[in-house]
Amino acid sequence: MKKMLVFDMDGTIANLYGVKNWLNDLRNEKVDPYVNAEPLYNMEEMANVLNSVKKNGWKVVVTTWLAKDATKDYDKAVAKAKKEWLIKHNFPVDEIHCLKYGRTKANATRKKAEFQILIDDNKKVRDGWTLGTTVNAEHDIMKFLKSLA
Ligand SMILES: [Mg+2]
Repeated sequence: MKKMLVFDMDGTIANLYGVKNWLNDLRNEKVDPYVNAEPLYNMEEMANVLNSVKKNGWKVVVTTWLAKDATKDYDKAVAKAKKEWLIKHNFPVDEIHCLKYGRTKANATRKKAEFQILIDDNKKVRDGWTLGTTVNAEHDIMKFLKSLA
């Protein structure tokens, strides 16, 4: 059976909301908060755990929203910043999906695996997930990830 772990980014692995003036910067179409967001976990430990999880047959995916009410150019810049953030922090991702703000996350991977776990800090997004189960990333997710390793 194909299994997929689908990670959100902002507020789940990247501390965007901990960046000073993040909302104001986003409204002014600056990418700095996405670039400068600190990881919410020790990313070396995260990579080790996820590499073990992958050996157990899981694909690691990131499905993330772009900024609210953004122009096309800003969406492009944010998508680039997010991809670079994942590389910079050694996140062992197999697939990245950057969606317009508010889009249904399940549509990005609907036919790609029979069972998909969404890890997301947004309750509304978790409630709309139809492809498997969800993990509330408002709490520490490391223990859960280790249980799959
Ligand atoms: Mg989030």
